[in-house]
Amino acid sequence: MIYSFEKTDPAKGRFVELLKTNGVDYELIDHDRSVVRVLGDVASKVGEKLGEVYEGRRRITIKSAGATEVYDEFAHRKAPVIIAGPCSVESEEQIRSVAHFLKSNGIRFIRGGAYKPRTSPESFQGMGEPGLRIIAKYAREADLRVISEVMDRSQIDTLCEYADVVQVGSRNMFNYTLLTALGSIDKPVLLKRGMAATVEEWLKAAEYIVRGGNSSIILCERGIRTFEPSTRNTLDIAAIHLAKRLSGFPVIADPSHAAGRSDIVVPLAVAALASGADGAMVEIHPQPDTALSDRNQALSFDEFERFLGRLREIGLY
Ligand code: PEP
Ligand code: MN
Repeated sequence: MIYSFEKTDPAKGRFVELLKTNGVDYELIDHDRSVVRVLGDVASKVGEKLGEVYEGRRRITIKSAGATEVYDEFAHRKAPVIIAGPCSVESEEQIRSVAHFLKSNGIRFIRGGAYKPRTSPESFQGMGEPGLRIIAKYAREADLRVISEVMDRSQIDTLCEYADVVQVGSRNMFNYTLLTALGSIDKPVLLKRGMAATVEEWLKAAEYIVRGGNSSIILCERGIRTFEPSTRNTLDIAAIHLAKRLSGFPVIADPSHAAGRSDIVVPLAVAALASGADGAMVEIHPQPDTALSDRNQALSFDEFERFLGRLREIGLY
């Protein structure tokens, strides 16, 4: 794992001291910033303490002002970051309507998959590049940033052309060649937790991207598989806070894929945000009943507005 500090940051000394006294192997590289490369596994030894010393610092290796500015919206957020949009990009009309709706509610980020990892090969697989073109076009019109999923290395260049944040889905969290390749892009990466991944495995997956050179990572807890059949997954709020402490990265919640049903998406989102998650990503659709993917969990526009109202009521937004 790589940690970077301003050269004059007093936390750097405390951080290195902790490594030394606990016998953790590391390298210290002093250039414009001080970079500490921790070698091997520290979670069991001092992971939590390191996270505390490092808290609030950012790890940025990507260069362009645009990408840094997008990442700062998460890393230096004033209020939780709300991301909303359909599971899949389906048509111009659908995205136009979602984009204008979000803008009218002051939302800054739109989501929408063009390459869809579907459990069944017979399900809608997404519109591909034409879908990305559509979401980028209406996002520009409504001054929104785009988040969309990459499923394969061959799609990275296309994603980078149209999206502001590149999403790695739950099914790909263990795809190490994809993660390594995302280390060399100039875009923040939204790394979802694998549906059966431990926190440690999730953070190790992030490390693959960091080692590739890209430290602009946003983690997303989207629910894990448990024995409970009445929800699609179980939202693991503890993991949000462990991941934040241990990594220092911003961590958001995806209550939609956790719940799998629209009736409890809002309380899950509120719980995650009230506990200190850095944001929430919620699936919405102009007509949820007609959605081509994940229709049971999509909020209608009215439901989403009530969600924002609830956040305002409790001072979270
Ligand atoms: C999605 O965000 O639409 C998605 C496929 O999510 P996950 O990878 O969490 O299942
Ligand atoms: Mn979905």
